[in-house]
Amino acid sequence: MVAYHALMRTLRDVLQQAQADGSAVAHFNVSDVVLLEAVLGAARELNTPIIVGASDGERKFMGVRQIAAWVKSWREEFNVPVFLNSDHTHSLPQALEAARAGFDAIVFDLSALPFEKNISQTREAIAALKAINPDILVEGEIGDIGTGSEIHATAPDLKRGLSTPEEAQRFVAATGVDILAPAVGNMHGMLKSMLDGETKKHLDIDRIAAIKKATGKWLTLHGGSGTNDEDFLRAIRAGINIVHINTELRVAWRKGLEIALSSQPDEVVPYKILAPVVESVKQVAIGRMQLFRKGIAAGPTAR
Ligand SMILES: [Zn+2]
Repeated sequence: MVAYHALMRTLRDVLQQAQADGSAVAHFNVSDVVLLEAVLGAARELNTPIIVGASDGERKFMGVRQIAAWVKSWREEFNVPVFLNSDHTHSLPQALEAARAGFDAIVFDLSALPFEKNISQTREAIAALKAINPDILVEGEIGDIGTGSEIHATAPDLKRGLSTPEEAQRFVAATGVDILAPAVGNMHGMLKSMLDGETKKHLDIDRIAAIKKATGKWLTLHGGSGTNDEDFLRAIRAGINIVHINTELRVAWRKGLEIALSSQPDEVVPYKILAPVVESVKQVAIGRMQLFRKGIAAGPTAR
């Protein structure tokens, strides 16, 4: 299992261990102190590495340097294996800002651009980012899995944006990315029907295995919220190393807050109102982390 030990000092170490173990590292997005405390608390409680992610809007709301300082202080004070990722970074200046602030990884996402432009600009970004911090890990994105970690009324047409092993192989060879995020049936956000568990997302496991074989790279599954548990385990066995969970935490945040406010109608002390909200988000995070390491008994993932 990916129990933390002192030798695992970098995200690279943690991913290598996850790959060897047949587990995946949970990536949790945060946009406020409630979410941060919840996911950091989950990592501390299970003594298991996590990646804390902040995408564009989340970084703007919390502050790039501020979120880095928060995560760094947890890592130092509690010796918790938490790493920080600049999620869906769409421009080089934004990526450089995060690298200078001490982020461990950058998701450089130009997947909306034509494929060749995505390749050339991602390659340039990697050179610039590694010049700031040679240990920083850069993830590239291909395909289309929709945008917005929120509740969608209808599903986008995912079939048209699926990644092929051929383009994945070409992309990693031409760019030199450390990590690849392909489109394999996953989708950002959740559908209303997924909120009540009426429907679940399903993944293209054969496609994941073929992309892993073609690239040999660490693979990230974005848009994990609402995915069938068994599909998660099969995807990890097929080569997924990082799983992004955002919407599920946001839903727990909102539901927890509504319950906290309605059950304490006269309370005005923020930390008294918010403590149970932290707890409800933390339980969702713990559940996902436990699932992502369930495959360990099954042995290493495909290479
Ligand atoms: Zn994403």
